[in-house]
Amino acid sequence: MTPIPNLDLPIRTIFCIGRNYLEHARELGNPRPAEPVVFLKPVSAVCTGGEAIVLPPGVGRVDHEVEMVVAIGRGGRHISEESALDHVAGFGVGIDVTARDLQDKAKQKALPWAVAKGYDSFAPLGSFVSAAQVPDPAALTIRLTVNGEVRQDGRTADMIWDVAALIAYTSSIFSLAPGDLIFTGTPSGVGPLAAGDRLVAELEPIGARLEIGVESRAPRQ
Ligand code: ZN
Repeated sequence: MTPIPNLDLPIRTIFCIGRNYLEHARELGNPRPAEPVVFLKPVSAVCTGGEAIVLPPGVGRVDHEVEMVVAIGRGGRHISEESALDHVAGFGVGIDVTARDLQDKAKQKALPWAVAKGYDSFAPLGSFVSAAQVPDPAALTIRLTVNGEVRQDGRTADMIWDVAALIAYTSSIFSLAPGDLIFTGTPSGVGPLAAGDRLVAELEPIGARLEIGVESRAPRQ
């Protein structure tokens, strides 16, 4: 049972949204999606700041995608946009670690992204802040520095689908329950990770933060 950092909830399902910032869709050569792109990560991919992102051997390029993460506190089906924020327990910051070469191959073959997105340690989570302390989730900045250099610097106001729309959409397909997480998509600036990198992800001004290092795993380990 893996708990959500700072929230007294075990993680249940990890939903992720692809292409939710126009500039990021463009940087990967993708069109603006007509509806949210949803995929899942396994709970086994979660790690926290005390651990490390582990680069698997032989997979090629592995990218960082810093994202605001929504923790669901109250479940439901067919949740309306108007009531959607009442279902949120808190907001945090995470990284949707992506084996980009594997994802590109999967896209070419119209295969799922489960492998490219799902290795152990590919869902690092930082601290979460209670929803009561976040008056407007569309008024946050999300930033990632790698070795002290700003790589991603976005605004949640630029999401194509905001948090309420994402909850309404996902709950129209999947029953949501307490402990579900929604990775809300990454702003532009994604790039490759290397062993020894030090990452700091921040969601401001609410103070959600993740600090984590990167290691490579030796073959046959
Ligand atoms: Zn992502």
